[in-house]
Amino acid sequence: MSLNMETLSTFAKTQGFVYQGSEIYGGLANTWDYGPLGVELKNALKAAWWQRFVQEQRNVVGLDSAILMNPKTWEASGHIGGFSDPLIDCKACKSRHRADHLIERFDASIQADGMSEAQMSELIQTHRIPCPKCGKFDYTPIRQFDLMFKTQLGVLDDKAQTIYLRPETAQGIFVNFKNIQRTSRMKVPFGVAQIGKSFRNEITPGNFIFRTREFEQLELEFFCEPGSEMQWFDYFKQASKQFLIDLGLREEHLSLADHPVEKLSHYSNATTDIEYQFAWGFDELWGIASRTDYDLKQHQAFSQEDMSYQDPQTNEKYLPYVIEPSLGLDRLFLAVLHEAYHEEALSEVDTRTVLKLHPFIAPYQVAVFPLVKKKHRDEAFTLLDQLAKRFRVTYDEAGNIGRRYRRQDAIGTPFVVTIDDQTLEQQTVTLRDRDSMDQITLPITELMTYLDQKTRF
Ligand code: ATP
Repeated sequence: MSLNMETLSTFAKTQGFVYQGSEIYGGLANTWDYGPLGVELKNALKAAWWQRFVQEQRNVVGLDSAILMNPKTWEASGHIGGFSDPLIDCKACKSRHRADHLIERFDASIQADGMSEAQMSELIQTHRIPCPKCGKFDYTPIRQFDLMFKTQLGVLDDKAQTIYLRPETAQGIFVNFKNIQRTSRMKVPFGVAQIGKSFRNEITPGNFIFRTREFEQLELEFFCEPGSEMQWFDYFKQASKQFLIDLGLREEHLSLADHPVEKLSHYSNATTDIEYQFAWGFDELWGIASRTDYDLKQHQAFSQEDMSYQDPQTNEKYLPYVIEPSLGLDRLFLAVLHEAYHEEALSEVDTRTVLKLHPFIAPYQVAVFPLVKKKHRDEAFTLLDQLAKRFRVTYDEAGNIGRRYRRQDAIGTPFVVTIDDQTLEQQTVTLRDRDSMDQITLPITELMTYLDQKTRF
C-alpha cells in the first residue's frame, strides 16, 4: 500500500498526534505542535533511544546543555559564515529552491550535496533543469543563504549582543568535553549523548515534519583514539540501523548511503546517511559522521583551553577523534508513523485503520474498558489506577465494544483489558491483542507481569 503524506498528516491531525502551529492565527509556515498522542510517542521515542544508547552502554553518559551559547562557539565550529545552503529563485513564478535539491530531484543519480556553486550552476545550465513548480527555465544566480537564527542578548538595543539559536546540539557536547571527562572519570573510548531542540532557517522546509526550522535532535558524540575511528564508525552504523529495525522499521525500507570521499565535509573522513523510504522516496533520517578531531581542535584554538585527553596507561596526550550519529527526532517520528499506519481489510465490507507501533512506544500501551459502564466502571477505574503506575493507559466506556476496539487500533494501543462479570466473580480479565485481534482470559494477578514483558524494548 502506498501511503501519501496528505493522508498521513490528516490522520496525525485528526487523532491528536500533530497539529499545525498557531493554527487559529492562520498558522506560521511549517511549524507544528505535537498533540496529546504526539507528545507521548515523542517522549517514548526519546526513552527508547536513551535506553539503547546511554543506559545500556557502559561507556556513554548524558548531557543537557543550553540552547544559547557564547557566539565564539559558532565561530570555532565554522557555523558563522560557513553554515549556509545554496539558494536559487525562479524568476518566473518566484518560487524558491535549494540548488542541490533541484538537481537531485531532476536526476536522483547525481549527489549535489557538497558541490560548489559553480558546479551546480553548470549542471542546471547544461541540463536546462526546469522549475519544478512552473516548468520554466529562468533562474537567479545561486547565492548562499545563512541558516543561523540570530537573536539579541541583553535589554538595551545598542548594547545588545548578537547571539544564535543553536543549529545542532553537538557543540554543547564538545565545549563540555573536559568537564564531562573529569567529572564522570570516563576513559576514552566513551560517548556523550544529548537530546534537544535545534534551529535552522531552512530555505525550503516541508514534507510535513520532515524538514522544519525548529526540530529536535538525538545526538551522540563518541570520543575514541585516533586510528580506531573506522571501527567505531562501523559499530555505530550497525547499532543505529539495528535500533530502527527493533523499533519496527522494515529493513527493506532502510538504506545506507555513503557520502563519496570527494564530497565529504571538510571535517569528516567518512559519512553515511541512514535513509528511510518516506512517501516521496528514500531520504535522510540519521547522519553518521566521522568528524576526526576537528571540533576539539577548533575549540582548543579559539578558547585557548587545553582540550586534550591524557591516556592514564601510557600518559600520552592527544585530541580524541569523534564519531557522531545524529538522528532527527521529528524525522524518526514521521518514519515510525509512516511504517505503522495500515488500512486493513477485515472482510469484503469491513476495514480498520491500525497503527502497528511497537508496544514500548505506543502513545497508550493499555486501554481499560468496562463491558457495561454502570456495572463495571468501579472495577475498571481501580485497575486503571494500578496500571497507570507502570504503563501509559487510557480509558473508554463510550459505545459498543467493537467500536471502542477500533478507536484503540487507530491510535496504536497494543492491549485492551475489558472488565466484565467474570472479573467481579473470578478476578479475571479479557485481554485483546491489537495486531492479531485475539482475546485471551487472564487472572488479574498475572496481568502486570504479562504486560511488563510485552511492552519491553
Ligand atoms: P539535510 O541534508 O536533510 O538538510 P543535514 O545533513 O544538514 O540534513 P545533519 O546536520 O546531519 O543534517 O543533522 C542530523 C540530523 O538532524 C539529520 O539526519 C536529520 O534527521 C535531522 N535534521 C537536520 N535538519 C533538520 C530539519 N530542518 N528538520 C528536521 N530534522 C532535521
